[in-house]
Amino acid sequence: MKVDYIIVGDGYGALFFAHQLIKHQKTFVLFSEAQKSASQISAGIINPVVLKKFTTFWLAAEQIAFLSKTLKEIENITGKNYQIFENIRRIFHDEKEKELWLSKSDSKELAPFLSKNFQNLDTVRNPFGTGNVENSARLNVEDFFTDLNSYLQKKGHLKAEKFDYAELHGLSYKEITCKSIVFCEGMGALHNPFFKDIPVIPNKGHHLKVKLSVKPENAFTIKKKHFLFPLKNGLHYYGGTYDPVGREHEVDDFATQQLIDGLSEFYPHPFEVVEVNYGFRPTVKDRRPILGSHPEFPNYFIFNGLGARGILNGCFFADELFQHIENGKALMPEVDLKRFENPKFIRL
Ligand SMILES: Cc1cc2nc3c(=O)[nH]c(=O)nc-3n(C[C@H](O)[C@H](O)[C@H](O)COP(=O)(O)OP(=O)(O)OC[C@H]3O[C@@H](n4cnc5c(N)ncnc54)[C@H](O)[C@@H]3O)c2cc1C
Repeated sequence: MKVDYIIVGDGYGALFFAHQLIKHQKTFVLFSEAQKSASQISAGIINPVVLKKFTTFWLAAEQIAFLSKTLKEIENITGKNYQIFENIRRIFHDEKEKELWLSKSDSKELAPFLSKNFQNLDTVRNPFGTGNVENSARLNVEDFFTDLNSYLQKKGHLKAEKFDYAELHGLSYKEITCKSIVFCEGMGALHNPFFKDIPVIPNKGHHLKVKLSVKPENAFTIKKKHFLFPLKNGLHYYGGTYDPVGREHEVDDFATQQLIDGLSEFYPHPFEVVEVNYGFRPTVKDRRPILGSHPEFPNYFIFNGLGARGILNGCFFADELFQHIENGKALMPEVDLKRFENPKFIRL
């Protein structure tokens, strides 16, 4: 079997890259070991604002616009738009925070995102009110992965198996030959003999699925320490935590308690924890994704380091990587693997 591409992985990086291939009529197979990792357990929040300091981030507006455009293209493939147009309402901790929000909302960068129209919510504790993040939204994570995976399967793109690096010889893998391989394994890259030394650091995150006794009355995402929003089965999602040192592949009691305490802080009614899940965000010290080709094997590409913003980074940089591979467009230096001059990051 001859294809243009092999994709290894099945998270945001892999699926947004697969979308580029579908859009440009390239042939490919995608390897999925079908484990629920960071992408599948993510909250799906699409947020242009850093909600601790009320700042925005590199390429936020461009990424938001590009995501909307891409999700419309994906809608043409699966018949569904996965963007849920419900804004984030940030609960203020005190008057000082409100003042900070107001002063930031005057800046050119933040004016499109920080509404000056403060509101009070009924079902939760919010003595200082809430601020609305304009242009924020959510991805319907469950349907996005379910539908795209079934599309890939139907079209014969999906290989539901773990990619075995020992079987890769040049551009041949078992019965498949390809022109390029794109590795999108998230923290799984640590097992990839070609890219295992890229400087991605796992950041373990947990979320809860909870049954609320009194449901918030309107359609939005509530944020204090973490995000709270409704799922389609009547439960609510609450998460996620950040733990840069946890490495164990098991639910952590401390993180679970952190979430229960975080929710209890503003939700005054009884609730039941129905499920706890965790995943590992692939983060990079400079908070930029990592894209580029292997110095010895120019047709092996890495697409990783999506960090806490897997949706925006995955969508935007899938296109950057595709344009780089197919049209020779130079990678932005901020995301280029080559920024890590130290050769120890790449070991053969
Ligand atoms: C609790 C939590 C909440 C989050 N919330 C948000 C959010 O609201 N918004 C947001 O934008 N981001 C969020 N994130 C971050 C986001 O999930 C990550 O940035 C993103 O998932 C990284 O995507 P990825 O495709 O690089 O890696 P992953 O999601 O880890 O996917 C890689 C996949 O590759 C597979 N794989 C690896 N090796 C192989 C192999 N050899 N063969 C076959 N398959 C392989 C793995 O099984 C895995 O499924 C959250 C993360 C966590 C943990």
